[in-house]
Amino acid sequence: MSPLENSSGNFQYILENYKEICYNVENAKAKYARPDDNIQIMAVTKTVEPEKINFAIKQGINLLGENRVQEFISKKNLYDKSAQVHFIGHLQTNKVKYIINDVSLIQSVDSFKLASEINRLAVKNNKTMDVLVEVNVGDEATKSGVAFNECVELVKSISQLENVSVKGLMAIPPIGCGEDVFEKMHELYQSIGEMNIKGVNMDILSMGMSGDYELAIKHGSNLVRIGTKLFGARKYFGG
Ligand SMILES: *Cc1c(COP(=O)(O)O)cnc(C)c1O
Repeated sequence: MSPLENSSGNFQYILENYKEICYNVENAKAKYARPDDNIQIMAVTKTVEPEKINFAIKQGINLLGENRVQEFISKKNLYDKSAQVHFIGHLQTNKVKYIINDVSLIQSVDSFKLASEINRLAVKNNKTMDVLVEVNVGDEATKSGVAFNECVELVKSISQLENVSVKGLMAIPPIGCGEDVFEKMHELYQSIGEMNIKGVNMDILSMGMSGDYELAIKHGSNLVRIGTKLFGARKYFGG
């Protein structure tokens, strides 16, 4: 890090970006007739230095999104503890133990095997873990997430786990996909809500990133995950 970057004054662009995102979110809420909805803005932290993340927290960010277990472990002690942390990246079953006590929610649950391991460790740690079920809404071979048509079944089976609580759905619509994909996700989210599955709440629809968060808000998202538009372009690939 250069000495210049050390002064918080140099992070001013993050504040400007944050203000613009807040403005756009408010605009989208007004435009799409959702004036009273609370839409959470998550700061996605992959490759971003803790100093910048803490600066963003000082400006009002209260939710962080972590993609990688290793990177999170190396940075978590440097974070301002006033923000909550969600895990949003692909999570291997054997890595749950490294994050279970440091995140308030895991957004990327896409198999019963993973949910069972989260449950096992939650029981052991005497807690209930909130999760979202990640849906591979674009049916992309390279993406994680449960197949769209298998989502309901997975939600139902996870609901049987005592110490895991399903709070909603997460999706990454393919870049450039049609609006129908966003709407399909919204409909799934609503229909699961209407099923009144015991122990399942559809409180969070996590959808929308730097390039499509306004569109996602149009289609019911209430948690947008923003990296690039907040912190600038990532220095290396941040999948
Ligand atoms: C990187 C990432 C984001 C943020 O992407 P940007 O386009 O930089 O805003 C959101 N969600 C997930 C799961 C990500 O991995």
